[in-house]
Amino acid sequence: LKGISIAIDGPAAAGKSTIAKRIAQKLHYTYIDTGAMYRALTHKAIQSDIDMDSDNDLADLLMDTEILLVPEKGGQAVWIDGIDCSEEIRSQLVTGAVSKVASHPTVRKMMVDKQRALANDSGVVMDGRDIGTEVLPNADLKIFMTASVDERAERRFQENEKRGIHSSLESLKEDIERRDRADSEREVSPLKKAADAILVDTTSMSIDDVVDKVIELAEM
Ligand code: C5P
Repeated sequence: LKGISIAIDGPAAAGKSTIAKRIAQKLHYTYIDTGAMYRALTHKAIQSDIDMDSDNDLADLLMDTEILLVPEKGGQAVWIDGIDCSEEIRSQLVTGAVSKVASHPTVRKMMVDKQRALANDSGVVMDGRDIGTEVLPNADLKIFMTASVDERAERRFQENEKRGIHSSLESLKEDIERRDRADSEREVSPLKKAADAILVDTTSMSIDDVVDKVIELAEM
């Protein structure tokens, strides 16, 4: 069965992965969380004591790393060199360092190549920062998803609580603002809306509303 390609970009904690996962499930498409790939490399770099300022060292490390996105019921597990690291890649340590790792040109080029290779004709939903602009510039549908900083911090807070992680709303907000800055000021491929992307502000929308809206757009 032939499917379409859907690119979902936007700032940190805008709900991209929650929405992308549901859409992939509903349409029986492959879901690819590109942020998880940068997180995986960051996790391994921390474990291996690699200099986060060195594009070369990180690129060498990536060459030696197997990152697998394994479809799971309701989502996707992330395996690094044969070990399930789905939890570890969401740690504060990784979240604090990932934008730095993702700022390096060689690392990005290698990641973009891997991501393109993962897209297939039977339908794909890919979420990230540069999917509509760099990874899949010919995607059939491009969504740029945003929400207010307060709303994004609140959602992340609720999500953490559910996973038993207690965080302060204020520090989550600071982290989101810091990553917004780092991601949009990046020299190579900064976060920006593709000219042909459809802007979806999810601030006052429920998850179901957003999923329905994107599927509606996909069916047009
Ligand atoms: O989506 P998530 O918040 O997990 O992404 C983690 C980080 O990875 C982002 O803050 C960004 O710095 C980087 N990233 C990127 N390009 C992508 C996806 C994520 O630079 N396509």
